[in-house]
Amino acid sequence: MAHPFLDLAPLSAAHFASVEDRVARLLGTRQDVVIMQGEALLPLEGAIRAAAGPGTTALNVITGPYGQTFGDWLRDCGATVIDLAVPFHTAVTAAQIRDAFAEHPEIDFVSLVHAEAATGNTNPVAEIGEVVRRHGALFYLDAVASVGAEPVLPDAWGVDLCVIGAQKAMGGPAGVSAVSVSERAWARMAANPRAPRRSYLSLLDWKERWIDGGRRALPHAPAQLEMLALEACVARIEADGPDTVMARHACAAAATRAGASALGGGLEPYVYEAADAAPVATTLRAPAGVVASELVARALAWDPALPLAAGGGALAKEMIRVNHYGADATRGAVQASLAALGAALAEKGLKVDLAGARRAAESAWV
Ligand SMILES: *Cc1c(COP(=O)(O)O)cnc(C)c1O
Repeated sequence: MAHPFLDLAPLSAAHFASVEDRVARLLGTRQDVVIMQGEALLPLEGAIRAAAGPGTTALNVITGPYGQTFGDWLRDCGATVIDLAVPFHTAVTAAQIRDAFAEHPEIDFVSLVHAEAATGNTNPVAEIGEVVRRHGALFYLDAVASVGAEPVLPDAWGVDLCVIGAQKAMGGPAGVSAVSVSERAWARMAANPRAPRRSYLSLLDWKERWIDGGRRALPHAPAQLEMLALEACVARIEADGPDTVMARHACAAAATRAGASALGGGLEPYVYEAADAAPVATTLRAPAGVVASELVARALAWDPALPLAAGGGALAKEMIRVNHYGADATRGAVQASLAALGAALAEKGLKVDLAGARRAAESAWV
């Protein structure tokens, strides 16, 4: 009997190209879309190393842990880096980006994370894109956590390098990712003598060996399992309707936020303003005197399948993440997560309103 994912035939170049086209359609882009055979960190790093060098002045916006990583890569490339860090409980504003350009007109590269699954905020990319375009800088965006959960429109927003991964709201595998690349971005890379070439990190290799050849011959063996899974998850979004999928994520976020506030016990949304909260995941602040990671561990002891996690690193003490994305963007996952957190808080002797939380979550799901 044929095994479902062993002994697969190699994926044809035409099939590979058709998956790229489908991803381009999902992003509403006419730019080149390069699918990269690795987790999203591959195009995230590859795009920075290709586009930035010693002559670059980069504005690096930090709204969570990924911004920190991008700054490190940019500095490693020899770029002059201006870090713009905002507290994790808020989002960056277009006015802050405008001020940064006013202070440093030499900025020619902007790196931004759209939504942060790790901190639960989302940034106003459309407005920021207008500012970046007005100054002619290259615009690099990490849309790994936003794609599928909220609109991601590289062409409309003037994004030159837009990186996505399948593993969050798209409900796909983590081993494949993609980046849309504008003509300006290709030109910047081609002019950069330090851009990776003949390297697994190289976007230029894909341009020269795949795109410029009319996408007829793959430079190396396709990761067929991941490609088939990426194709299936895009097909599922097309079938459900992207708006329906995004609405489910928005409802899950609103319901989690409303439910957590109604639960009481000192639990609060981590991101102050609902408008700054990401549809992909909701972060909560643990009550004073309660260690978030311990609370999450208790909740998971009841049901290990709940989409709960503590914040990473130093945030593990205070931040609870409700990862209501992909298959977990459901009423059931949100209600079960709230109930488990409520039970864990009650166990600590805190007064919680489980029924109130259930009702508030239900009525926020519109
Ligand atoms: C999840 C995520 C990624 C992918 O990185 P992992 O470390 O594999 O989870 C990249 N960027 C953002 C903003 C993410 O939320």
